[in-house]
Amino acid sequence: MLLGFDIGGTNLKAGLVDLTGKIVRTDSIPTPDSIIDFRKLSDTLLSRVAAGAQLLGAGIGCPGVINPVDTKVENLPGKMSYLEGFTLSDLVPRWLPEGVSVCADNDARAALAGELMFGSARGKKNVLMLTLGSGVGGAIAVNGALIRGHRGVAGHLGHMTVDPLGAYCLCGNRGCLETVFSARAFEIEAFAAIQRGCDCAMRRLHGDEPHLITCADVFACASEGDPVARAIIERGTRYLGGAIAGLLHLLDSEIVILGGQIAQAGATLFDPIRRDVERRTRRLLGRTVPILATVAGPHAGILGAASLALHAARNQRTRA
Ligand SMILES: [Zn+2]
Repeated sequence: MLLGFDIGGTNLKAGLVDLTGKIVRTDSIPTPDSIIDFRKLSDTLLSRVAAGAQLLGAGIGCPGVINPVDTKVENLPGKMSYLEGFTLSDLVPRWLPEGVSVCADNDARAALAGELMFGSARGKKNVLMLTLGSGVGGAIAVNGALIRGHRGVAGHLGHMTVDPLGAYCLCGNRGCLETVFSARAFEIEAFAAIQRGCDCAMRRLHGDEPHLITCADVFACASEGDPVARAIIERGTRYLGGAIAGLLHLLDSEIVILGGQIAQAGATLFDPIRRDVERRTRRLLGRTVPILATVAGPHAGILGAASLALHAARNQRTRA
């Protein structure tokens, strides 16, 4: 069995995965606000998930720049910056049997590794992936290799500038993709609409406590026909479509994979994105690039983290 640990901005998810990529057990908790709580709660979570399992290895996916050699979190702006400087393998419980390797990488890169090994990208060599959650992550495979770049930062697609004069982003830039398309961006837009007094379903839902509105609420209101919620999602989706089209012109990927909590919206998201990207790229690319969901849905991060562990275990065996 493999243990996959997916550290996200909203939830910490852990899962037990067999060697064929089948997820046999999962659990999750809300992401803690401090390193003390992170240590304590992740220890409990991982103990619960891995209890009684014979582990071949453990893998961790974490946002930011992660050194895959020593698993150190080198750069992680935002809510989880408390993890910066920590070595992720030290945060995994001490009860792991001796000899069980712990590896880690950027969460989106791990998710793409999982899709290449077990999922929608099996047999593909040129793949573009975006993880659409509280922020936006990304990963790129070119000619079968996951792109890392000079210092391991490559693939931070959520921090592509899509509006040079747009809102300030947690990364220090302005108008990044995740300032206009992400769960956080949608929640901020919905909060502002409620505060402005817009007559909408979101205000009727959370008028007294607008800070409680969630991305899922915005999608639910939009699917019920609320024009304000629809406009918020449509605006973000157009930015995302434009960004994917630009990336396809740059990379000429065979397929695009969308993961993360917002991708769970299904056709509400995929239909307009497919139409928009097709319109923008058809002439130059001369084909329709498939835009697919992750095979493991909400557990794509767990599967990706587990695939890192399997990859490391196989390498270890090859070296031995
Ligand atoms: Zn940014």
